Amino acid sequence: MPKKDGQNYVDGRFVASALETLEVRNPATEAVIGRVALADAALVSEAVQAARSAQPEWAKKPAIERAVALRKIAAGIRAERVALARTLVAEQGKTQELAQVEVDFTADYIDYTSEWARRIEGEVIPSDRAAEMIFLNWKPLGVVAGILPWNFPFFLIARKAAPALLTGNTIVVKPSSETPLNAVAFAKIVDAVGLPPGVFNLVMGSGASAGESLIEDPNVDLITFTGSVERGKHIMRRAGENLTRVNLELGGKAPAIVLADADLDLAARSIWQSRVINAGQVCNCAEKVFVDERVHDPLIERLKQLFEATRVGDPSETAALDMGPLVSEAACSDVEGRVRRATSDGATLITGGTRIGKRGHFFAPTLLTDVTSNMSIMNDETFGPVLPVQAVAGLDEALTLANSSDYGLTSSVYTRDLDLALRAARELEYGETYINRENFEAMQGFHAGRKNSGIGGADGKHGLMEFVESHVVYIQGR
Ligand code: NAD
Repeated sequence: MPKKDGQNYVDGRFVASALETLEVRNPATEAVIGRVALADAALVSEAVQAARSAQPEWAKKPAIERAVALRKIAAGIRAERVALARTLVAEQGKTQELAQVEVDFTADYIDYTSEWARRIEGEVIPSDRAAEMIFLNWKPLGVVAGILPWNFPFFLIARKAAPALLTGNTIVVKPSSETPLNAVAFAKIVDAVGLPPGVFNLVMGSGASAGESLIEDPNVDLITFTGSVERGKHIMRRAGENLTRVNLELGGKAPAIVLADADLDLAARSIWQSRVINAGQVCNCAEKVFVDERVHDPLIERLKQLFEATRVGDPSETAALDMGPLVSEAACSDVEGRVRRATSDGATLITGGTRIGKRGHFFAPTLLTDVTSNMSIMNDETFGPVLPVQAVAGLDEALTLANSSDYGLTSSVYTRDLDLALRAARELEYGETYINRENFEAMQGFHAGRKNSGIGGADGKHGLMEFVESHVVYIQGR
C-alpha cells in the first residue's frame, strides 16, 4: 500500500491498522479499484481519545479562526474537484455530472457553514432579581462521531464535520465500507490544511466492528448518523447506555402527489429525474406516486417514455448518462426481489423489472402500476430506480395515504392551484415538501425527518444548533 493511501487518519497522522485491508470495487465493472486499512477497536478508541484531547483547545479558538480553517478545506476540495469527482464515480457509480455537483456542493457547503462563525448568538434573559444578569451561551458538545452511508459519501462528511468543527467540537468520521476512498481523499485535504492533530479523524471499517466501537465509546458526546432506519434504531438503543445524544437522518419513502390540474410534463420529468438520479439511491427522491385517477393514464404514458429513454451505462466511460449502476450486488438483488414481490402481489410492470448486462450492478428503470397501498412496494424503502404509481380519487385520499406511512422525510405535490398546494403543505406529515419540483434540499434549509425518518436534522441554522448545548450564567450584581 503506498504511503498514506487507504489509511485511517488519527491524531493528525495516517496510520495503518492491525486488521486486514478491505477491497473497494467499482460497481460498474466489479474491478478492484483500491484497498483501505480497517480500523480495529483499539484504533477507533485512539481516534476518540485524540478527538477528546484536542477538543478543549479547539473550542477556545474564536469561531472565526475555526471558520478560516474550514474555508481552507473548501479551497482544498476545489483544487482537487475533478479528481475527487472521478473517485466518486468509480467507487459509488454516480454519473460524472452528479459526482461533480456533489464535490462542488460540498465545498460550497463548508464555506456556507463557515459564514455562521459570527452569527451564533446567545441570549440575555431578564432576571427576577434586582441587579442580576442572566446569560445563555451556546457551547460545543465535545466529541462527535459521524457515521455515514455510501450514497452521497463525500458531501455527508462535510454535513457532519463542517458544523461540528465550526461550533468547537472535534470529530471522528466513519464512512461506509462501500465508499471509503473519497473519505481518505477528504482526510488528505484536511491534513494539508494543517488542522490541529485530533480535530478531524477518520476510521474505516464495517458497522459491526468500527461502527460498534464508535457508538459504544463513552467519550463520544454526539452520534450523528445517516443511514437506514434499522441501523438508526440500533444506534439509538446503544447510545442510550451512555446517554449519548443522537442525531439520526434515516430512510424515506417520499410520496409524489400529482393532482388533476398539474402540469403533467413537469410532474413526469421531475419525478422521473428524481427516481433515476444516483440510480434511485437517494433518501429524498420520489419513491411512489399518488396520482388523481383522471390524469393517471396520461401521466403513465409520459413516465413510460422517460423511463424507457433513460441513458444507463458505466459512468467512468461515458459522460452523458442519466444513471449508472447500483452500489453493490446486494443492493441489486434487493431491488430485484422487491420488484418480483410487487408483481407477485398484483402490480403491473409497465417497463423495466430486470438487470441490465452481465457485468456490474445495473438495474433497469422500472415503472409499476395497479399497486395498492397495502403492498410492500408502496410502504418499504426501495433504494433503486423503481417507481410504483397508484391512482387515487383526489387530494383527500392522497393525503390520507401519504400520511399513513411509517416514514416522514420528504414529499412533493404537483398542482397549479395555490389553495390545494397550501392545504397539502399544511397537512403532510413530512419534514419537507416540494411543490412542483423534486429534490434536492437547500444548504440553508433544515433537512429533518419525522416518524421513522429520524430525529433532529441537518443544514442551516437549525442544523448547526444540533452541535451545541446551552450554558446559563447568572451574574448577581450589587
Ligand atoms: P446503513 O444503515 O446500512 O449504514 C450506514 C452506516 O452505518 C455505514 O457506515 C455502516 O457501516 C454503519 N453501521 C452499520 N451498522 C452499524 C452499527 N451496528 N454500529 C455503528 N454503525 C453501523 O445505510 P446505507 O445502506 O449505507 O445507506 C442507505 C440508507 O441511508 C438508506 O436507508 C437511506 O435512506 C439513508 N439515507 C438517509 C439520508 C437522510 O438524510 N435522511 C441521507 C442519505 C441516506
